[in-house]
Amino acid sequence: MFNKFKPDQYYRDIFAIDLGLLKEEGIKGIICDIDNTIVPWSEDSVVKEVIDWFEEIKGQGFKICLLSNGKDKRVNYFSKELSLPAVGLAIKPAKKAFRLAQAKLGLAKEEIVVVGDQIFTDIFGGNRMGFKTILVDPLSEKEFFMTRLMRKLEGLVYKRREQDE
Ligand SMILES: [Mg+2]
Repeated sequence: MFNKFKPDQYYRDIFAIDLGLLKEEGIKGIICDIDNTIVPWSEDSVVKEVIDWFEEIKGQGFKICLLSNGKDKRVNYFSKELSLPAVGLAIKPAKKAFRLAQAKLGLAKEEIVVVGDQIFTDIFGGNRMGFKTILVDPLSEKEFFMTRLMRKLEGLVYKRREQDE
């Protein structure tokens, strides 16, 4: 019973997810939460880094569907912004919306991973469907998202410089 509340993998944020490992595990599709997973709860736009990340995983051949308990208007906005199919008003962990998302991906349950920040909606919901699950830290509870992102970018720049010198 309690195993259903345990994610298969944990990462601090979406950018840290090991896509190579997912491929090795036979994962072909990602059902991705919106609020606090790709966008802080209080924000209503996506940062370029998130758009780029989805482009990257699409480029690697993964199919993606957004799945959110949020209102249709907000969910449709992100669907359009990211050019991704989406299911809103999901009432996760209810199975119905997960099934809808699976149908949009057109994949078997073994080929799907759910990515989200909440144990009781994303992880429990995904596990009981037989999907793989990845937990990430909620964005709003961390230091401000952009600050972290900038630090990460700064880190990359410094590393490059060190290599150049
Ligand atoms: Mg969430």
